[in-house]
Amino acid sequence: MKIIEDKFLPSHFVKRYEDITPEFLRAHNIKAVMTDLDNTLVAFDAADADDNVLKWIKTLNESNIKLLILSNGNKKRVSAFAEPHGIEYIAEAKKPMLGNFHQGLKLLGTKKKNTIMVGDQLMTDVLGANRANINSILVVPVKEKDGWATYLNRRIERVIMKYFRSKNMINWED
Ligand SMILES: [Mg+2]
Repeated sequence: MKIIEDKFLPSHFVKRYEDITPEFLRAHNIKAVMTDLDNTLVAFDAADADDNVLKWIKTLNESNIKLLILSNGNKKRVSAFAEPHGIEYIAEAKKPMLGNFHQGLKLLGTKKKNTIMVGDQLMTDVLGANRANINSILVVPVKEKDGWATYLNRRIERVIMKYFRSKNMINWED
């Protein structure tokens, strides 16, 4: 069904954010990454960036790829994660609403076609990116457990993912 694909099909699927390399991004002409935080970079209940995340961010930095965290998480949680490492962020982003996708582009100073959204949720990260006309990468959630607010989204997501699988549109199993 075209409407489901238009709204919920990400441009790419990868297992973990570490699979998103500067080479991959360059090959797709991407100069900036907007990324979700919870269950994309760390477990939803992990407070701090770990060494792997910092290493990934450093690799992007060294390749002149800009990074912005675009999170629906509250300001306290997101700032505690991002500020110690000087990572730019927008908290309480209200994805899939468009406002902060546009604000994110403004902060990054890149065009839509050179920007990509990374996230673990179809209902927020991918839907928002598709609505904003930005490419997207869906990752497998870091942790199976989510915050309570995600419960309904995940139920809907399972139905959509089943459809994508039936059409052979995804190349990993979770
Ligand atoms: Mg998430």
